Amino acid sequence: MSDKPHQNLAIIGHVDHGKSTLVGRLLFETGSVPEHIIEQHREEAAEKGKSGFEFAYVMDNLAEERERGVTIDIAHQRFDTEKYYFTIVDTPGHRDFVKNMITGASQADHAVLVVAADDGVAPQTREHVFLARTLGIETLIIAVNKMDTVDYSENTYNEVKEEVQELLTQVRFDSDDARFIPISAFEGDNIAERSANMDWFDGPTVLEALNNLPESSPPTDAPLRVPIQDVYTISGIGTVPVGRVETGVLNVGDNVSFQPSDVSGEVKTIEMHHEEVDSAGPGDNVGFNVRGIGKDDIRRGDVAGPADAPPSVAETFKAQIVVMQHPSVITAGYTPVIHAHTAQVACTFESIDQKLDPASGEVAEENPDFIKAGDAAVVTLRPQKPLVLEPSSEIPELGSFAVRDMGQTIAAGKVLEVHER
Ligand code: GDP
Repeated sequence: MSDKPHQNLAIIGHVDHGKSTLVGRLLFETGSVPEHIIEQHREEAAEKGKSGFEFAYVMDNLAEERERGVTIDIAHQRFDTEKYYFTIVDTPGHRDFVKNMITGASQADHAVLVVAADDGVAPQTREHVFLARTLGIETLIIAVNKMDTVDYSENTYNEVKEEVQELLTQVRFDSDDARFIPISAFEGDNIAERSANMDWFDGPTVLEALNNLPESSPPTDAPLRVPIQDVYTISGIGTVPVGRVETGVLNVGDNVSFQPSDVSGEVKTIEMHHEEVDSAGPGDNVGFNVRGIGKDDIRRGDVAGPADAPPSVAETFKAQIVVMQHPSVITAGYTPVIHAHTAQVACTFESIDQKLDPASGEVAEENPDFIKAGDAAVVTLRPQKPLVLEPSSEIPELGSFAVRDMGQTIAAGKVLEVHER
């Protein structure tokens, strides 16, 4: 375990633009590929008279695995820079990426967008940038990859950079929060060391840019919100709800309210890592005991908050969504399942209020009859059972959700307004 601050990092970009290769290269350059694997490839490379090519061998091996149908799991890989230790979270192609981002299992504050220099902005580049924006990614490092395939041309780099900048403007991503770097993940240019092949570039390497990312400040000032994952009965203690503190601070002695179950009581004890503590903050996984609350009074999907300012229970809510995939069209009346924090609740599309122009973010059509894959829209949803949500502008941790149907993520959304019961 490292005592450096931790960063979750998402790697996004069009298929085949080099995401796995970049992750392989980052692990390799930071000495994070297990030594026995390197050793194995070093020997093989030496045997074949190609010592010094360990990286290519590691990647070849991964490619082989992929051909055999073994998915390369770049998720959950870890590496260090001087200042931080990083964990790679799932990439958007992964089945549960959106759900994990939203339920906080692997919420990333920053992302690296990989764009191949020989291909430029491609459909998934667009989709992932939209998604990154909706899910609240703060900083984007844009790695213009495969520079070796375009003769390390500054002109090509500038063209791709302009194309991406245009895309960022379209989705209103503040371009001050975007950093561009020309790289070759395969050859190792501008990853750990400045490339002699691109002396026209005077910006940072990828590792320097990662090391310079802003540290995320935990949301301790926001009101307390603890989505409940499970409820246990422990002999000698009583009912123990467990969950992760998303925002605010939970203290022994606090009067907390569980919504939508609508019960409240005083916090008697808080346990974290099998030790009793007096208080817990954002990111802490806790079990706590509340005076007078029984096992059947509360359940998974409830959210604990201050009794005098309890979590908001939505009768309906307005949200901005991005439709990622849907076999046909979405119309009013459609009732998929919404996954938000630890809750899963069927919600009906009550109205589709506005379709947004993905090119400008402006309203393109009022009250459209339907929306389909690739569309962004403002919609009103009605949960079929009480559901706690908060406007994303007030408590982002409880303001985003995934729309799931038939085992797939149909859309990602953020809550604009909550209309309470
Ligand atoms: P992903 O689908 O985005 O994860 O892409 P991969 O990392 O699997 O790369 C797709 C293909 O592009 C593979 O054949 C890689 O070897 C190749 N590739 C990746 N990065 C580079 C690079 O910097 N230069 C060159 N020439 N090829 C690359």
